[in-house]
Amino acid sequence: MIGCYYCLNEIDMAKVEDYVDQGKTPLCYHCHVDAVAEVKDKSELEALNNKFFGECDNESVN
Ligand SMILES: [Zn+2]
Repeated sequence: MIGCYYCLNEIDMAKVEDYVDQGKTPLCYHCHVDAVAEVKDKSELEALNNKFFGECDNESVN
């Protein structure tokens, strides 16, 4: 799947309208952050979220 590891929503690349970095990096159409990546499942998105955006003291998982 392709998803955004900032807002943790799944991404349909056909719906992506905005790109940055000279068109190479898609912007998430949910949150407009360039955090779109291909992952195997949502748990990998959450791991990326923790890696790039996670707070040290935020261990909560819904
Ligand atoms: Zn997003």
